[in-house]
Amino acid sequence: MYDLIIIGGGPAGLTAGIYAMRSQLKTLLLEKMIPGGQVLTTYEVENYPGFAEKILGQTLMDNMEKQARNLGLEIKLEDVTDVELEPSEKIITTSEATYKAKSVIIATGASPRSLQINGEKEFTGRGVSYCATCDGFFFKNKEIAIVGGGNTALEEALYLSNIVSKVTLIHRRDEFRAVKILQERVFNNKKIDILFNSIVVEITGDKKANTLKIKNVKTEKIKDFIVDGLFISIGLLPNTSLFENKLLFEDGFIKSDEEMRTSIAGVFAAGDVRSKSVRQIVTAAADGAIAALTAEKYLESLRD
Ligand code: NAP
Repeated sequence: MYDLIIIGGGPAGLTAGIYAMRSQLKTLLLEKMIPGGQVLTTYEVENYPGFAEKILGQTLMDNMEKQARNLGLEIKLEDVTDVELEPSEKIITTSEATYKAKSVIIATGASPRSLQINGEKEFTGRGVSYCATCDGFFFKNKEIAIVGGGNTALEEALYLSNIVSKVTLIHRRDEFRAVKILQERVFNNKKIDILFNSIVVEITGDKKANTLKIKNVKTEKIKDFIVDGLFISIGLLPNTSLFENKLLFEDGFIKSDEEMRTSIAGVFAAGDVRSKSVRQIVTAAADGAIAALTAEKYLESLRD
């Protein structure tokens, strides 16, 4: 029986692990792939405090994992397939085993949202990608487009502009959502063109995607746009399928209070999976710290 099981090994889960170790809780972190979460798909991070120079996303997360392991955190790479959260003994089933814990922190994060247009599924991996740092290299000196107007889309445009010959950023409004510093860098980058008020309505091609049908939402006109690749960066969907009908949700994300408590006693949520307005590495880490400390208080209350 564990004091705490943490599901998910991104910044929220690993930070929860670090704090749980310092609270000497018997803790297991379960991660289905490799620890690191979405940051692994980020090339450089310049807004995580403590690094005067930028740090590679991969390096930041390798360090976070090492730090947690050095403090004694047990990490198992197993896919969680079922959870029973109601009983006082929470039961977590993975592809390999069943574990019991007195408390659980859900830090399963979020995954890229898809456009849901014709050709998207068909050409994913064949010209259509959701991760510039993973796939950018395949488009060296080619012309690519990116859909989206948030921080991820603009960061990916800047990153890809160092690899490809031309980037076209396609956004549905006439104003980006991303922070001003990224907007300024994008506007000043000669390799980045911007198509505002535009949406991609279809992706076509032969063996690989090569033509986008782009609609101008003001004029309603649709034009063919030739590209070698398309990156889709239109936000996140929380990884919550395991918890549907088991917890309270808010706008599709797990509802939790400021102490990371969910609707079930002993179950906490941290990071991108929980309903909140700011999703940053630093806020995910902060959530993880708070969740672990609240879990510790909860475990103490069980002993009283
Ligand atoms: P986001 O901030 O939710 O932005 C999504 C963008 O995609 C928006 O511009 C949105 O347009 C557009 N969009 C959504 N659905 C669309 C559709 N069906 N068709 C066309 N466009 C669509 O998502 P994100 O950029 O992935 O970022 C996710 C979270 O991580 C955010 O909280 C972000 O701040 C954070 N993040 C932070 C950093 C950083 O600090 N360096 C880096 C990456 C991500 P509208 O603007 O019109 O809604």
